[in-house]
Amino acid sequence: MSKKTELFLKELMLKIAGKGSEKIVEVLFNKKNVNEFKIAEKLKMTINQVRNILYKMSLAGIVSAIKKKDKKRGWYIFFWTLDNLKALELLKKIKQKEIEELEKKERSYGTKNYYYCEEDNIEMSEETALHHNFLCPECGKLLQPLKRKNKEIESRKRKLMRELSSIKEEIENLKKKIKREKERKEIKEKKKKIKKEKGKSKKKGKKEKKKKEKKKRKKKR
Ligand SMILES: [Zn+2]
Repeated sequence: MSKKTELFLKELMLKIAGKGSEKIVEVLFNKKNVNEFKIAEKLKMTINQVRNILYKMSLAGIVSAIKKKDKKRGWYIFFWTLDNLKALELLKKIKQKEIEELEKKERSYGTKNYYYCEEDNIEMSEETALHHNFLCPECGKLLQPLKRKNKEIESRKRKLMRELSSIKEEIENLKKKIKREKERKEIKEKKKKIKKEKGKSKKKGKKEKKKKEKKKRKKKR
């Protein structure tokens, strides 16, 4: 899987389990059923710290676990698998929400009017601008409405949109990969089945041949 996906998953971890938790991606990425004690060992964390992170991931629905009984100690050990696709889809949702929030802010700032002079780069509130009859106190030019806050928001939004489309691309790639793997598996299973059936029919053929031969022999007698 791509490096990009790994980076996105780390970003997601920061969002759902806080700083330090993103390292867990390096241990779980593209692996299956990772022993939780191994995770703790690799991250140099206590088992409780690791379980705390995994619990949050589990609540977010991006990991699955199987448990096995440790025969020596008699307790259960959990083995964890990170679901790349679900994680990317969650990050996609979070980003979409963030964009929505920015759009809300944008609308609210849009109603607050600021004014500025193109020449002097002077900014003022609507009240002050009104006080100056909407003319620049420095050069006398007509003041222009400024949606400065919106500009900041706009650039943040653009960044989020770029990230979002990149996440969508990764999701598509991952889906294609999963589909290809599934198809490959199906073909493999079909081949196995055909082989099995061929084996059966061969045996059957032999049996029938033997029967016929017996009959022939009987007739001869
Ligand atoms: Zn001016």
